[in-house]
Amino acid sequence: MRSNYRTYPGIAFYDASLRLYEGLAEDLDWQLDFNQSGHFTLAHTDSSITGLRIRAENNRLMGVDSRMVDRDELRRMVPTMDMSDRPRLPVLAALYHPPGGTIGHDEVVQGYGRACDAMGIEVHQFTAVTGLEVAGRKIVRVRTTQGDLSAGAILNATAGWATTISDMAGVPLPIVSQPLQACVTELIEPFLDYVIVSSNLHVYVSQTAKGELVIGSEVDPYQTYCTRSTLPTLEQMASYTLELFPQLHGIKILRQWAGVCDMTPDYAPIMGAAGELDNFFMDVGWGTWGFKAGPISGKCLAETIATGKAAALMEPFAPARFLSGKLLGEKAAASVSQ
Ligand SMILES: Cc1cc2nc3c(=O)[nH]c(=O)nc-3n(C[C@H](O)[C@H](O)[C@H](O)COP(=O)(O)OP(=O)(O)OC[C@H]3O[C@@H](n4cnc5c(N)ncnc54)[C@H](O)[C@@H]3O)c2cc1C
Repeated sequence: MRSNYRTYPGIAFYDASLRLYEGLAEDLDWQLDFNQSGHFTLAHTDSSITGLRIRAENNRLMGVDSRMVDRDELRRMVPTMDMSDRPRLPVLAALYHPPGGTIGHDEVVQGYGRACDAMGIEVHQFTAVTGLEVAGRKIVRVRTTQGDLSAGAILNATAGWATTISDMAGVPLPIVSQPLQACVTELIEPFLDYVIVSSNLHVYVSQTAKGELVIGSEVDPYQTYCTRSTLPTLEQMASYTLELFPQLHGIKILRQWAGVCDMTPDYAPIMGAAGELDNFFMDVGWGTWGFKAGPISGKCLAETIATGKAAALMEPFAPARFLSGKLLGEKAAASVSQ
């Protein structure tokens, strides 16, 4: 969880989401494992220091708590990290974002599901959309494995499968689906208070309250809908983690998994009306970074569908940007699975 993105629309959007997350346990009346422990993005080269500086300055202009820290301060704050010149790419500096942290994603989904149920909303699990019937400028029928439906508005929020749904309506999306893997280790004594992300090593590490380390990396460099985890990616996650924390040598991996990510050319999401059809909306292109945006994207899409006018915060993310060429350029801040 974090809001220290690079572009102004990105920073405003993710910050609004973080604020909703801060009050979500109360809103949902549900316990969420929300921990704003602080978030570091490490730089190992001069060019990444420059990139992180731009983010720090943009963040501060937008009122987001974010600043650069040098090696000495980093050494004091994260004493378990190897700050020596031993690693192939020594840590030179970092972007520090105090409100960043982690949240229990299962609890969030359970909390939302429970709140939807209390409002009379039906969630049909194990029900696949198999076709969309278009007449004129509208989708008039949604075919599913449990029968046909019709609705005033239809929202595509299917992440890694986004293009399979939009293709059914003849609406092309500039999205490719790539796997992203992560793993957790056995429980160890508390040794890491912060979320540590390395933009050069493409790895992130944090420790849960229970004691497991959660470790992840960048997307795998191929397109597939397969969610099998692989040995080369595990080796990559392990070797990069050991560059930062060599004392973890010998620690056991408990489990590893993969999800399918909907990657856009500018590493920013696609939200809003499809354009070609009046009742078809998109909330896709969330790639490796979408969980943190759930509350605000839901709120903005609900407003857009209810009023027929794009919510101001999500306007820059409209699908039409790929026709006008106004891409957002969020890659430097969205990559490394965040
Ligand atoms: C390993 C990993 C680590 C990640 N780490 C982070 C992180 O640290 N921070 C962060 O912000 N984000 C992270 N992400 C990204 C984040 O998980 C996603 O962006 C986010 O969950 C997407 O949410 P969503 O609601 O759009 O889609 P999802 O939660 O993926 O839901 C899409 C749904 O569509 C359904 N669906 C697909 N096809 C059909 C069909 N034909 N009919 C009906 N339903 C269909 C699927 O079954 C699924 O339930 C990570 C992702 C992975 C894989």
